[in-house]
Amino acid sequence: MSGALVIEVERCKGCELCIAACPPRVLEMSREVNATGYRYPILHPGCTGCTACQLVCPDAVFEVYRLSSG
Ligand code: SF4
Ligand code: SF4
Repeated sequence: MSGALVIEVERCKGCELCIAACPPRVLEMSREVNATGYRYPILHPGCTGCTACQLVCPDAVFEVYRLSSG
């Protein structure tokens, strides 16, 4: 199973809860900030589509799409 994310960076408040919640640790906080001045998560390869980030985020930043092969 793999996943794709839509990250609505302008909704992010920079709490970093998603970083620790991601089991394969493929999220990292950006160096840049959004319009509100917060750093936001960026995705590295290896997302499994587990939805942990979506569940933990208090600001509904993530939409997770699960991709099944075949
Ligand atoms: S869906 Fe799961 S694996 Fe993918 S970024 Fe979110 S927490 Fe990490
Ligand atoms: S949990 Fe949500 S609000 Fe917090 S840093 Fe991650 S995306 Fe931003």
